[in-house]
Amino acid sequence: MRGEAGKAAKAMVAIVAITFAAEFLIMRGLAALGFDLASPATILFDALLLAIVIAPPIYWVVLTPIRREYDKRLEAEIEAQEMSRVAITDPLTHLMNRRGITVGLLDAMAQAERYRTPLIVAMADIDHFKEINDTHGHKAGDRVLREVTAIFTEVLRMPDKVGRYGGEEFLIIMPHTKLAQGRKIAERIRASVGKWEFDLGSKKIHLTISIGMTQFKPGDDLEKLVSLADKALYDAKQGGRNLVVARKMQ
Ligand code: GH3
Ligand code: MG
Ligand code: MG
Repeated sequence: MRGEAGKAAKAMVAIVAITFAAEFLIMRGLAALGFDLASPATILFDALLLAIVIAPPIYWVVLTPIRREYDKRLEAEIEAQEMSRVAITDPLTHLMNRRGITVGLLDAMAQAERYRTPLIVAMADIDHFKEINDTHGHKAGDRVLREVTAIFTEVLRMPDKVGRYGGEEFLIIMPHTKLAQGRKIAERIRASVGKWEFDLGSKKIHLTISIGMTQFKPGDDLEKLVSLADKALYDAKQGGRNLVVARKMQ
């Protein structure tokens, strides 16, 4: 910072000296050529020259601190935005984490309530995931989670949303979707996961996923909605896994 101030001061001194020398020489030249230095044209020329030479350093001196302050604020704002993004993002899959997807669900519920549009909430859970970790290691499990995430993103379309709700559990939000359509999408996810060859580096494996889903009804609260999707997921597990089960709101 001190070095910078020193450099700036030296630059200013140099600019003033050069301006002065240039003006002095030009005025001498003009006088030698027989110009009347007190004439309006010369005064105008002098003023113009001064303005041209003096303006840049003044601009530089005034604007540099303002620009620096602006850059500092911009940087702080970007950092704050990045921090809030990190706070709602799952670092492994880069999906929204539980907090992020819960906010997304509250928002979708408010929209469905206000505009009376259908809304589906689904909970998906990888079957026997613990076995994958136990047999192939935790890193292989992480790889599976990322590949399952890729399948979700491939099958789902805007404005659908998916977030990592827990370890190997994902919450899916499908706004403007009725139960029959939601079931089709969930079936597509289930079938895609079932068909997928998961590449674990040394080995390729197959696995399945179970999905429980429910439809939002105006007046429902978040807890009830999530717990119904959870219950439907439980039914899918009880039913033998690799299933999609829907539960209607009572
Ligand atoms: P189910 O079919 O009933 O769902 O059985 P499951 O084995 O999938 O379920 P369980 O709840 O018994 O095990 C989930 C496992 O997920 C246990 C936990 O160690 C693992 N897990 C949770 N988070 C992560 C993670 O970030 N990475 C990896 N590799 N494993 C995880
Ligand atoms: Mg599981
Ligand atoms: Mg689970």
